Amino acid sequence: MAQASLLPEVEKLLASPRMFIGGTWVDALSGRTFEVFDPSSGRVLTEVPRGDVADVDAAVSAARDAFEDRRWSGLRPGKRAEILFRVGELIKRNIPELAQIEALDCGKPIKVAQGEMWAAGEVFRYYSGWPTKVFGETNPTEDRLFVYTRREPVGVCGGIIPWNFPLIMACWKVAPALAFGNTIVLKPAEQTPLTALRLAELCKEAGVPDGVVNVVTGFGEEAGQALASHEGVDKIAFTGSTEVGRKILHASEGNLKRVTLELGGKSPNIVFPDADMKRAAKGSMMGVFLNSGQVCTAGTRILVDRSIHDDFVGALVRATEAMKLGPALDENTGMGPVVSAEQLERVTGYIDIGRREGAEVVTGGERATELGDGYFVRPTIFTGVRNDMHIAQEEIFGPVAAVIEVDGVDEAIAVANDTIYGLAATVWTRDVSTAHRVAAGIRAGTVWVNTTGLFDPSVSFGGYKQSGYGRELGVHSIDTYTEVKTVWLQL
Ligand code: ADP
Repeated sequence: MAQASLLPEVEKLLASPRMFIGGTWVDALSGRTFEVFDPSSGRVLTEVPRGDVADVDAAVSAARDAFEDRRWSGLRPGKRAEILFRVGELIKRNIPELAQIEALDCGKPIKVAQGEMWAAGEVFRYYSGWPTKVFGETNPTEDRLFVYTRREPVGVCGGIIPWNFPLIMACWKVAPALAFGNTIVLKPAEQTPLTALRLAELCKEAGVPDGVVNVVTGFGEEAGQALASHEGVDKIAFTGSTEVGRKILHASEGNLKRVTLELGGKSPNIVFPDADMKRAAKGSMMGVFLNSGQVCTAGTRILVDRSIHDDFVGALVRATEAMKLGPALDENTGMGPVVSAEQLERVTGYIDIGRREGAEVVTGGERATELGDGYFVRPTIFTGVRNDMHIAQEEIFGPVAAVIEVDGVDEAIAVANDTIYGLAATVWTRDVSTAHRVAAGIRAGTVWVNTTGLFDPSVSFGGYKQSGYGRELGVHSIDTYTEVKTVWLQL
């Protein structure tokens, strides 16, 4: 196995991870910890502080103080830009170390993790451009009035993030919050809390003042719930399941904090007869199995035109079987394990459901036990799936694809939209009219044509329907991280 040994910084972090509140490293006030596992081996990786209500209180209070005394928002915009750019650079400088931590914590292949760490750095670089470019308007009213708007920070933000892209998700929350002058308390997922802690350290190293970025590790029902319901938090940005999104919304109603939700998906991946078959097969395979299928935008419903069904499925299966399943730190690994024992059970449970519903497994369909105690599931493709089956309607969040036959453009659009979700869609066609008709017809926040899974910090992202609301990244994130104030002046 081509596996590098652990870097000293990684060993150091694993030896005693602590939370970051008000610029200092702390244990949970209760003194409690919880175990974090390495999905590739199923063994305990380390223990982290189990933050709860009291720790969230302390973090919110630190973030509130930092917000009120304007130690961050009061800095010259150019200075804030410089610091955010430096965070991006520090992330990039530390890619080898961060990637090892992410691979160990999350189970993602090291090569993939390295690419993600680079992308995480890009998020900060992008947002470093914003502090110097946010401004208000003057409004045309009466001659003796002067009316203008100011874009002001929302205040103390809470970021609650999932385990599938831990550092990228952390950056999606922290970078815009800071770019627009807010302070933040971040609650990483209990399965993957480690890179968020390193991010806090890098923010400090870059010059972000103490109290502006705080990280509380802990469980969703404890630390997450405490943050979502906290009266001292002005905004929550959540990424995770639709089920938990609803809980966040309920928890937030006390002080009517602003809430943005990026939730689940069951995205269609549509293949038309005129598509470039090779590209479509490879792309569809990556679209559903990247990150072991643990991607909110994963193209899990593969809608294939009846006329090409058998040929396409053959190509899809070949592409899938060519991918090497293995431990995260092995440089030859194409697909790693799923993140946790719980997720392993959920995914294999859905595979059983699919079989019972009458769909046929054409590849995979089981746990890969030859790889030891890690949480490995073979990439699985079902054919003969009807869109009303559980495996076509529910988000599995694992390496399971459902191939559904469709007949023509109109039926493809109708089936694509027959879901409670609306996060993303992919279309494979060489016909320009088909591409634009389908892009317009699909009720989803993102449509990819002849490619899939692409993101860029300058491109806004978010869901329709039960995939959430609000937009992250890009120009639209200004609206979710600022308040608009109107000032009226009688001349
Ligand atoms: P997944 O289903 O993919 O594990 P979740 O939606 O459960 O993702 O979790 C996403 C994030 O939400 C995690 O940080 C988790 O700790 C947090 N979380 C889970 N339950 C709650 C809750 N009741 N209140 C607030 N946060 C929660």
